[in-house]
Amino acid sequence: MPLILRVDVDRPYGRAPLFRHVLSRLASDLYFPRIECFGYLRELGIILEMLKQRHAKAYVFFRRCTLPSGPILRLIEEGGHKIGLHLEDSRSFETFAAEKRMLEAHTGRPVRALSKHGSGGARYGLHHYAPYEPEWYVEWARRTGMTLFLGNLEDPSLGPVIDAAGFASYPSAFWLEPAWRDTSVFTIDWLLSEARSRDVVLLIHPENVLAVPALIGELQRLLASLDTRILQ
Ligand SMILES: [Zn+2]
Repeated sequence: MPLILRVDVDRPYGRAPLFRHVLSRLASDLYFPRIECFGYLRELGIILEMLKQRHAKAYVFFRRCTLPSGPILRLIEEGGHKIGLHLEDSRSFETFAAEKRMLEAHTGRPVRALSKHGSGGARYGLHHYAPYEPEWYVEWARRTGMTLFLGNLEDPSLGPVIDAAGFASYPSAFWLEPAWRDTSVFTIDWLLSEARSRDVVLLIHPENVLAVPALIGELQRLLASLDTRILQ
């Protein structure tokens, strides 16, 4: 069985060097325009090139401060990836619907996949509503014709719930970055073995993975061994 690869695009200018880290914070907390020569979405571009070499497909989730540029949209089209909403302002159905409309207007296509920025802890950014309330997101996603919700729980042994209409909700992911994973239990070998019998969501954040050579190696190893899958 394949991986369902989830890419959350959190930082418009990555996290290094310092001035790009500052631009990422500025764009998230206040406003900063999309400027290619400062490396807007550079890390995502590198990951998408890597996926292209492996013929791997992903769901790529964008925030309102990381809306895809023209070159990124072309890579997504060429690679057969799907665009999803990385929801920030989850105060109400209306704020959710406004973010979905913004992403659809920007990309010119319907958005059918949803993930949430943050897992209920700190507030990240001007528009971010911190509580994590997945039951609402599933209801809103269903109500607006979406077909997939990928949740933030950190126990990748939890399986999906798929309803009669085909709406799929995966409550949990295997987070490649070890800060959000019990690495004593959920090792790369565990994932390779588990994904033989069922779909598992693999979650990555491009700027975090590219900052650690060992994580790049683990991602390459997984992509070399497992297929990836688009559900819709
Ligand atoms: Zn996020």
